[in-house]
Amino acid sequence: MFLWILGAIALLAIIIIAGDADAKAKLERSGITDGSITPSDVTLYGTPQPAFICPHCQEKGKVLTKTIKKKAGISGAKATGAILTGGMSLLATGLSRKDVVTEAHCTNCKSTWQF
Ligand SMILES: [Zn+2]
Repeated sequence: MFLWILGAIALLAIIIIAGDADAKAKLERSGITDGSITPSDVTLYGTPQPAFICPHCQEKGKVLTKTIKKKAGISGAKATGAILTGGMSLLATGLSRKDVVTEAHCTNCKSTWQF
């Protein structure tokens, strides 16, 4: 039992480290090295977009995007849950109709929106 728990923790650590390395690589590719976007932002919100101007605060290079799947005609509460969990709650509950949308997040004004 103890070894099983230890194994699970080790596996989790490997997943976190691998995810972090991937996030750092994405961040380096984007050329955003002033620290305005951190690897954990990349893990949470997706790929940094250096040329993207935030429609909320007009800042350039502070926006991250990722594609998510969401149910057509979804309720506000479920959509909020999807934003918080990166679409995982919707995938877990099962979907009959899927719409692929882009979710964007601005690290400057903390806005998250979809288009
Ligand atoms: Zn913004």
